Amino acid sequence: MRAMVLERPGVPLKLVERPDPQPAQREVRVRVAACGVCRTDLHVVDGELPNPKLPIVPGHEIVGYIEAVGQGVDALAPGVRVGIPWLGFTCGHCPYCREGRENLCDHPLFTGYTRDGGFATHAIADARYVFRLPQTGEDAATAPMLCAGLIGWRSLRMAGEGTKIGLFGFGAAAHIIAQVARWQGREVFAFTRPGDTAAQAFARRLGARWAGSSEAAPPEPLDCAIIYAPVGALVPQALRAVRKGGRVVCAGIHMSDIPSFPYRLLWEERELLSVANLARKDGDEFFAIIQRAGIAAETVAYPLSRANEALADLRLGRLQGAAVLVP
Ligand SMILES: [Zn+2]
Ligand SMILES: [Zn+2]
Repeated sequence: MRAMVLERPGVPLKLVERPDPQPAQREVRVRVAACGVCRTDLHVVDGELPNPKLPIVPGHEIVGYIEAVGQGVDALAPGVRVGIPWLGFTCGHCPYCREGRENLCDHPLFTGYTRDGGFATHAIADARYVFRLPQTGEDAATAPMLCAGLIGWRSLRMAGEGTKIGLFGFGAAAHIIAQVARWQGREVFAFTRPGDTAAQAFARRLGARWAGSSEAAPPEPLDCAIIYAPVGALVPQALRAVRKGGRVVCAGIHMSDIPSFPYRLLWEERELLSVANLARKDGDEFFAIIQRAGIAAETVAYPLSRANEALADLRLGRLQGAAVLVP
């Protein structure tokens, strides 16, 4: 197999050849057809997340086909199309697992962070955390659904039922979730980096009622907002944009520091919360919805060996939609 490997944070990924990995008990080996590039991969590569496994193969938006199964795997067989998400393992017995909140497990493993991921031709996964995917949709266009879509969906659900929803940062997650929100009959207000008229036009094309700078006020108060960009300064901006009782959800795993802000921005029962990881039931819900709603991701494809370029383009906001590596 070939893989793009991070030896230590801050240095470019290196293309390496390795023997094909063998699945252990309850594991599967997947031939990777496409793997999305997520902002979390950037945080891993840039050393912004603590204690990655090193060396690590990043990538947690994997679409592929089962090639071999280990002992004890009954539900998946060679040839089956699957998705491998960020959540790679949970312990099953900590207080969070026991109360059905496996996304907060005390002893988890995460694909592309604490176990090897999908910037490769092959990946090993615990079969219990693999989603069986329908045979529809191109592999590359499906890959971003495994995190941008899935965690985007969890953040949309946590934003509540409000009809006027703000999306801060119009990248991979927001461009999928804008489509879901429109399908649900909500009005989308998209906030981008100041001056990013291309992203604003992209948002309008995907059905946003309004698109503008994150420093601008929306034309009317919003019911809720989700922050996808890793920029702490957006927290007070989003609180300013929501009405009394409105809710602001921070959907990223990492953010720059949040500047201090006057209490009146939170006052009047506004709520501020974060979303962490995913639970398997989020995937079951979300994959049914994208089929029913006909949601598609817009992607920019890169060959596997150009993973560093894809990461650089994402870092600088040089692409629209989602970056995807194709081995
Ligand atoms: Zn647990
Ligand atoms: Zn991700």
